[in-house]
Amino acid sequence: MPSVLVTGASRGIGRGLVERFAARGWQVIATARDPKAIAARDGVVGYPLDVGDPASIARLAAVLAGRPLDVLLNNAGIYGPRDVRLGAIDYEAFRAVLETNTLGPVRVTEALLPNLRAGARKTVVTVSSIMGSIARTQSPGALIYRTSKAAVNMAMRSIATELGGEGFTVVVVHPGWVRTDMGGPNATLDVGTSVEHLVRLVERLRPTDNGRFFDHDGSELPW
Ligand code: NAP
Repeated sequence: MPSVLVTGASRGIGRGLVERFAARGWQVIATARDPKAIAARDGVVGYPLDVGDPASIARLAAVLAGRPLDVLLNNAGIYGPRDVRLGAIDYEAFRAVLETNTLGPVRVTEALLPNLRAGARKTVVTVSSIMGSIARTQSPGALIYRTSKAAVNMAMRSIATELGGEGFTVVVVHPGWVRTDMGGPNATLDVGTSVEHLVRLVERLRPTDNGRFFDHDGSELPW
């Protein structure tokens, strides 16, 4: 059975992804800042991981050393301040969002590269957002979050070009607008629907998809 490591598995989309992958028979490594928050079930093992903490990432890589991994699913993310206005940007908060949303997925990918190289699927999926699409940005707002997701899009596209020759599939995905703590109660999708689409998408990914930006339904999004 293929294996997947999910970051940010304590709640929201990450928790849903763990449940869906496990239900589909995948071997799931669920990671969270507080591993006690990971729902226990067959086929799931939990480990602590704070994607904003390089020491935590190094500890996870050491624990998993020598173990092949098919798919890394970078899901952990934060929104940061909701009300961002020019003239009053909170740069400490900006830095924290970049650490989690941009540097985090890059650091985790880098740390787990030996595991991914030893895996059969060699796949890295990062949960980004349509809000990171430069082409789709036509109105003000969410400067910090948008910037962090546009930056992780570029980082993953860049990694895709570096690893494509080794048969890797590195993509970014938008999960839809999902009813989670981040998405809020008015979002259009429930977690179950979003993760059902995302898991199906991951199962169909091929090396020819390397470097693409997908919506949860598998359609392609503009950068
Ligand atoms: P959520 O309900 O707020 O959950 C966020 C998850 O990320 C939690 O498990 C949280 O863990 C984890 N996390 C945050 N910082 C972390 C860190 N430093 N290390 C490890 N885990 C960390 O959000 P969500 O809606 O499920 O979002 C998941 C992903 O989808 C994010 O990347 C988000 O940007 C993206 N996304 C969501 C939507 C939406 O509509 N919901 C739309 C587009 C993109 P704790 O419990 O420890 O805080």
